[in-house]
Amino acid sequence: MEKSNGLRVVLFPLPIQGCINPMFQLAKILHSRGFSITVIHTRFNTPKASNHPLYTFLEIQDGLFEAEASTRDTSLLNPRLKPNVSLFSTVSRSNSCEAPFRDCLTKLLQSETEERKQTISCLIDDSGWIFTQPLAQSLNLSRFVLSTYKVSFFVGHFVLPKLRRERYLQPQAEEFPPLRKKDLLRILDEETEVLDSYSDMILETTKASSGLVFVSSCEELDEDSLRQARREFQVPIFAIGPSHSYFPGSSSSLFTPDQTCIQWLDKQEDKAVIYVSFGSVVNISETELLEIAWGVRNSDQPFLWVVRVGMVNGTKWIEAIPEELMERLKEKGKIVKWAPQQDVLKHRATGGFLTHNGWNSTVESVCEGVPMICVPSVWDQLLNARFVSDVWMVGLHLEGRVERDEIERVVRKLLLEPEGEVIRERMQLLAEKVGRSVKQNGSAYRSLEHLVDHISSF
Ligand code: UDP
Repeated sequence: MEKSNGLRVVLFPLPIQGCINPMFQLAKILHSRGFSITVIHTRFNTPKASNHPLYTFLEIQDGLFEAEASTRDTSLLNPRLKPNVSLFSTVSRSNSCEAPFRDCLTKLLQSETEERKQTISCLIDDSGWIFTQPLAQSLNLSRFVLSTYKVSFFVGHFVLPKLRRERYLQPQAEEFPPLRKKDLLRILDEETEVLDSYSDMILETTKASSGLVFVSSCEELDEDSLRQARREFQVPIFAIGPSHSYFPGSSSSLFTPDQTCIQWLDKQEDKAVIYVSFGSVVNISETELLEIAWGVRNSDQPFLWVVRVGMVNGTKWIEAIPEELMERLKEKGKIVKWAPQQDVLKHRATGGFLTHNGWNSTVESVCEGVPMICVPSVWDQLLNARFVSDVWMVGLHLEGRVERDEIERVVRKLLLEPEGEVIRERMQLLAEKVGRSVKQNGSAYRSLEHLVDHISSF
């Protein structure tokens, strides 16, 4: 770490894995540039402070999340396949976090003034925390918004309430490219309606902030939408690129990664393995579990499959898989509860990623040059998947068909057929382009330098 610059940054991640990881990656970067780090966090999905001995952690009593925290049962936040919707509507109603957060931040600022040791330069929190902007303003503290979405989704999703309000349900390609009509209809289904007023609040509070930071995005992945974002938001915008590339390895994992994955991969042939994972919140049905099991097994390719505890609706883990099928799965694959994903994607044996296309997973796969099979289930995943399959053409789209024959066909196509080879070559080129962006003088690297300078100036 560089010598302390006497400045402290306060971070407040949204309590889900896909938001915690990028926030901690940003923390590592800023810490390496001399900033001290304070993390304010909810009790629900508490980050592991022991993994970050150099940061200060302050827990707030978040009330609403406490029932979940006591059981670690994310299904309360997560009715089937609607993780973001459910979480965000919960958060948007979550006034219960506001008062504890305000007290915590106010005390922190007071102690700073009394001790005169360090200056708090700014607050950086997730775009989803809509109550923090007026609070920061009232405390005269600069607030930066961190977005863990792809820029095009972040910018584009603000038109959704309008589309719905006007019942303008003949979405034209130009309304939200590259989404197809069926994707947009899925995004606009009734259950996302609760998010409309929330989106409006995000828009308003982001426009009032001191700046917008996109982790995991860069000019190379998002050039047009970055231009649009700069026009529409009129606050400084930083796209610092795949932030895990600056400091690989995720020490902010909420679950313990099963390290035996790596030994297992060591025994497999180069680029032979299909890695299957749906991130930290998506749930699947028992039928889908069985279709995936048969599909990957019938492909006859080795597979590494993450099934989180509680991920299959109505069951504890994988007990719905009959013994006979289980025996067959063991011949070719390995099922774990949580994997060291970045190391898995980096491994020479990993040849493809069957993914839900959460933005972190998508970018991690791009960075390692691993082509994807897209099984998006909701919200931004639908857009990320279209970029993978239709724009960058670095993956195949399952088009919602979670069926054994289809899975077998696409796995074999990606790993064994000439079309898969062409996709892999394209992915390699994209990986190199994105990799260059985080190197000195690359677009993301320069943006990060600007961010550091900007924060230091407060
Ligand atoms: N992840 C992991 N091990 C797993 C599954 C996921 O470390 O077995 C990490 C993954 O590397 C990524 C994050 O969890 O950084 C998931 O974020 P993403 O945006 O892809 O999906 P979300 O969980 O938000 O739906």
